[in-house]
Amino acid sequence: MLTNDQLAQWDRENFFHASTHLAQHARGETPTRVITGGKGCHIEDRDGRKLLDAFAGLYCVNAGYGRPEIADAIAEQARELAYYHAYVGHGTEASITLAKMVLDRAPAHMSKVYFGLSGSDANETNIKLIWYYNNILGRPEKKKIISRWRGYHGSGLMTGSLTGLELFHNKFDLPLAQVLHTEAPYYYRRDDLNQTEAQFTQHCVDALEAMIEREGADTIAAFIGEPVLGTGGIVPPPEGYWEAIQEVLKKHDILLVADEVVTGFGRLGSMFGSEHYGMTPDLITIAKGLTSAYAPLSGSIVSDKMWKVLEQGTDENGPIGHGWTYSAHPIGAAAGVANLKLLDDLNLIANAGETGAYLNAAMHDALGDHPNVGQIRGEGMLCAVELVEDRETRRYFDPSAKVGATVAAALFADGVIGRAMPQGDILGFAPPFCLSRDEADEIVAKTVKAIKSAGL
Ligand code: PLP
Repeated sequence: MLTNDQLAQWDRENFFHASTHLAQHARGETPTRVITGGKGCHIEDRDGRKLLDAFAGLYCVNAGYGRPEIADAIAEQARELAYYHAYVGHGTEASITLAKMVLDRAPAHMSKVYFGLSGSDANETNIKLIWYYNNILGRPEKKKIISRWRGYHGSGLMTGSLTGLELFHNKFDLPLAQVLHTEAPYYYRRDDLNQTEAQFTQHCVDALEAMIEREGADTIAAFIGEPVLGTGGIVPPPEGYWEAIQEVLKKHDILLVADEVVTGFGRLGSMFGSEHYGMTPDLITIAKGLTSAYAPLSGSIVSDKMWKVLEQGTDENGPIGHGWTYSAHPIGAAAGVANLKLLDDLNLIANAGETGAYLNAAMHDALGDHPNVGQIRGEGMLCAVELVEDRETRRYFDPSAKVGATVAAALFADGVIGRAMPQGDILGFAPPFCLSRDEADEIVAKTVKAIKSAGL
């Protein structure tokens, strides 16, 4: 057994952490956090501290921690067959079963699912499929992808480009040239305070139309968006947004990718965000909630319309030149089958809707009138508290004051994990679906305390 200090030293000397201030961490100025276990909505660290994880890891442990049903399925699969690939028609009982379970739950016009490992690689797959599709249709110029400022679609080369957050572009020479960013559907942060929500939606639509006009519809292949903006601030769309955007896309023959890495499999209280908001996407990205993060697995769900063209493409050109060694990995697939079954058996998606609504309402009751709370918003098991310096004039804090991070740190010190979202002083919550009302009350009460302790 390693002593804790030894681990901290090895960590600083050897471990390149994701999304971390590298220099501070290497110098030992930021703590090494070693997580050792979890049960339900709680995790435990090496010092025996129990924390209520109100962000479900990275909004992914939807079924909750410590589920033996999923762990057993993984162990059984590893014993029986840890690996075989999915190339040239190979599969396993788990991957074939999971594909059927995904399609049974997906909107009716979807046809097939391609399995990858992460949300980022699933979106890379999507862009390749879109380019392939337009090449097969004889439209080699129709290749640009429109994404939104504040969208989050991953941190690869293409997906980091699609992501509309500065931190993911700066110093990485991103975004790549094929990517265009349009208006974020973020009503609270609109420029014109006199706009109604419906007028703001029209403003987003006008900006999109103008971009298409400027670039030429025959150069634009697809539009990608999360049904609810996630990492960009947890922002549900303004009134009528998806209906109006889809009308524009249809008019210009532009494909729609619904990035449901966060919303897929129940986070909004419905199976998919697409059905929640009346979206009819050509591709749906899934990841996190597919396995509740018990094993890495993602997917690109392809519509009938696109699938027909992909088939035509392989008739004309031979097998599709796209595959990862770990596509449809059996252990991930076994985790997915057990996870989707568990969501059904425990009625967890309904609980995400009901307890999520309770959490949002309780947060409103507790903080709705606070002078530094600009907006409380959410949908299903998603909730955000946006902090501002002056709520009347909607003046934001100076980012260098790091108010959001300070409040999140105070909350953590009090035993609740919320997330300081990366752009703005926004405290985000996305608990596991098994959250109880008592746990929701604890999140709210400790958020109130944390805000106070930050001097607000
Ligand atoms: N798409 C969305 C909407 C996400 O929230 C994320 C991750 O948070 C991704 C894609 C990227 O997924 P991954 O981190 O698994 O690559």
